[in-house]
Amino acid sequence: MKQHHHYDALIIGSGAAGLTMALHLSQNARVAVLSKRALKSGSTWLAQGGIAAVLDTTDSTQAHMQDTMSAGGNLSHPDAVEFTVSHGKESIEWLIQQGVHFTQDSDDYHLTKEGGHSHRRIIHSADATGKALQSTLIERAIASPNIDLYEDHIAVDLITRRKLGLAHNRCVGAYILNEKTGHVEVFQAPHVVLATGGASKAYLYTSNSDGATGDGIAMAWRAGCRVGNMEFNQFHPTCLYHPQAKSFLITEAVRGEGGKLILPNGKPFMHKFDKRGELAPRDIVARAIDHEMKRLGCDCLFLDISHKPAEFVRSHFPTIYKRCLKLGIDITKEPIPVVPAAHYTCGGIVTDEKGRTDIAGLYAIGETSFTGLHGANRLASNSLLECLVYAKSASQDVFNSLTTPLDESIIPAWDETQVTDSDEDVIISHNWDEIRRFMWDYVGIVRTDKRLQRAKHRIDLLHQEISEYYSHYKISNDLLELRNLAVVADLIIRSAMLRQESRGLHYTLDYPDLGPEALDTILTPINFAWN
Ligand SMILES: Cc1cc2nc3c(=O)[nH]c(=O)nc-3n(C[C@H](O)[C@H](O)[C@H](O)COP(=O)(O)OP(=O)(O)OC[C@H]3O[C@@H](n4cnc5c(N)ncnc54)[C@H](O)[C@@H]3O)c2cc1C
Repeated sequence: MKQHHHYDALIIGSGAAGLTMALHLSQNARVAVLSKRALKSGSTWLAQGGIAAVLDTTDSTQAHMQDTMSAGGNLSHPDAVEFTVSHGKESIEWLIQQGVHFTQDSDDYHLTKEGGHSHRRIIHSADATGKALQSTLIERAIASPNIDLYEDHIAVDLITRRKLGLAHNRCVGAYILNEKTGHVEVFQAPHVVLATGGASKAYLYTSNSDGATGDGIAMAWRAGCRVGNMEFNQFHPTCLYHPQAKSFLITEAVRGEGGKLILPNGKPFMHKFDKRGELAPRDIVARAIDHEMKRLGCDCLFLDISHKPAEFVRSHFPTIYKRCLKLGIDITKEPIPVVPAAHYTCGGIVTDEKGRTDIAGLYAIGETSFTGLHGANRLASNSLLECLVYAKSASQDVFNSLTTPLDESIIPAWDETQVTDSDEDVIISHNWDEIRRFMWDYVGIVRTDKRLQRAKHRIDLLHQEISEYYSHYKISNDLLELRNLAVVADLIIRSAMLRQESRGLHYTLDYPDLGPEALDTILTPINFAWN
């Protein structure tokens, strides 16, 4: 089995960002695309609503920019917003060329309108846009002779010249755990791209799939990159609460069609928080649910649409109806148990317009990056657009700097001589659970200084324990994810502690008002520890 691979570009992640970049690059470069699980996994696969872009003559880039800025709580970077929005139409045209089928009405593509958008501008493939996009791009990638796809390959850490003790720091590859063989292989490339998605799995409840552990952010941080605005986690107000229902969203349309949020005693409560009631913006509804859950000490609240005619409910929400019925909940007759859930990571690895990070040769694109687009809150459906736009601009930058790879002998093979098989895997599952629980309780939708300090204290202890464990035992997917989750949780806590105001998605009872200036929270690593 080959232990050392060479490519012009190594792309870690097979979501919208990674595949788009691979397809652009494949015209001129040999590319490896890695996914730590199946290729069809990650948030892209789950995306339902669609992609925001100015496609209608009554709409304008000005209006899309304005909507993005106002959702972002004055913290979005105007240049990033303009750059992204102005490349919307060509990104969609490119997807259509690749063969993605978008829903059409009589004479054109059907566009929907979502919360925060002043115009109809969401192009979609029924209610499964991510699936349509990702499966088409995977087909194209499989057909390309210049792209090699690797499933079940987990990036462990980046390899930089600094790490190798060489001058002129640059990223030259990554150590990758091949889950099929259990061995760590070297993937060497002069251009390495982190397209690893978000970090919502740092929270107990999330709409994301299990792999959303912020691996790219943690690897980049360990290698010496800055990260920005990690305190802004978007929470979706209503995720199904059921032991067997992992990550199932109950769309906002249920509230739009008259669904009422109720307490365990059946009483409605949203009117106490906002005069728009159930139709208040996402963050207000999520905060209200969180407040009531904490006040009552209960595990979930309920969303009730059963007062509507059964046929109406079944025809408007067929997927939700069927999924809930499978779990024994008939939503035409009874309320749906719901909790808010971590949904989107607005912050990430600091990049420029070309996806470049602080380390030469290392790029970050998609949800793992911090481009400045989302500010303090993401406008719905701007995230897939960001993946497409920055994947293209990063690939153009790679084209301009294609260089010869380093000599194979420079990178040492992974050394496993000092580690043994673990006999205490319970530590991993326990710590994993503990992080996600205290992040939910103390660093969730509503924060206070005291809660953040508690969380900081716990993460410091866990960090120590996990580092020790990592240096003694053989690595596994679970251990790698736990190690990354601990880094990401620490970055979120530290960023939240630094923001002494309430802005966008960051709400703290100790500083409930906006601060005088809109500033990013940028963290810089002070030591480049490998472990
Ligand atoms: C339920 C849901 C609905 C959504 N709906 C919409 C929507 O309608 N419109 C919209 O714009 N956005 C939506 N979003 C957000 C959007 O889907 C994501 O932001 C976007 O898909 C992220 O794409 P990505 O390519 O950056 O990462 P992902 O699609 O998450 O892909 C990450 C990839 O990285 C790989 N990976 C991660 N770590 C490693 C590692 N260590 N080694 C190797 N591989 C690794 C994973 O295996 C995966 O292949 C939704 C999100 C969710 C969860």
